[in-house]
Amino acid sequence: MRTIVAGNWKMNTDRASAEALVDALVKATAPPAQVDVVIAPPFPFLALAVEKTRGTRIIVAAQNCHEAAHGAYTGEVSASMLKSIGVRACIVGHSERRQYFGESDAVIGQKIAALLAQDITPIFCCGERKDERESGRHFDVVTEQLKGALGTFTNEQLMQVVIAYEPVWAIGTGLTATAQQAQDMHAHIRACLHTHGGQVAATVPVLYGGSCKPDNAEGLFAMPDVNGGLIGGASLDAGQFLELIRIAGGEEWSRSRAG
Ligand code: PEP
Repeated sequence: MRTIVAGNWKMNTDRASAEALVDALVKATAPPAQVDVVIAPPFPFLALAVEKTRGTRIIVAAQNCHEAAHGAYTGEVSASMLKSIGVRACIVGHSERRQYFGESDAVIGQKIAALLAQDITPIFCCGERKDERESGRHFDVVTEQLKGALGTFTNEQLMQVVIAYEPVWAIGTGLTATAQQAQDMHAHIRACLHTHGGQVAATVPVLYGGSCKPDNAEGLFAMPDVNGGLIGGASLDAGQFLELIRIAGGEEWSRSRAG
């Protein structure tokens, strides 16, 4: 299974700092062969990120899209618009969109369908709140999110999806799930995927997100069911993001640099 390191810039940067961040990533040594690098800048900077990363292995993602193909949805952006400027992936169902914009799993599922119709990789976020973990309901919560958003897709469609497990209590808080907590949930997600068959379970990458930084990534990325990370704060710092890519590449990066 490939490893993915994806940076969610959220509503940060301006034109100059977005350009500088992309430039720094493009200039750095190519990522290890088995690591896919994804950056998700804000909408206004997607086109410049696509242009600047052309010919590199950096994949440009959006942070959201609307579920409809087109029409009278003032302020919204469709999957086909993203496709037309070269965006290849899109985060959907981030907990901030669930919390501040009331997105339900049903709507998130519709967004995933819209993205798949454009051959854009959905990065589907799921994860429990603090109270849900404390009451021991975290596995059930994530099961429901998976069913609610992904339940209607065929196996072929499911195999195009990337899942990001992001415990809400760990996002932007400096609290990180322990490597074992992450592994336990990722194994649970893998078991849910297994109900669609072994091929789906073996194909869909499951990323960890939530205050993942160079000083805690090694343990998280070493877990057997953790296939990389969705990185918020640390993705805004080129040095930290590159270090996370290096950690995700493990031995191979060191070997390719030495060679
Ligand atoms: C995120 O919002 O997707 C995220 C993981 O943020 P942070 O790394 O800042 O916790």
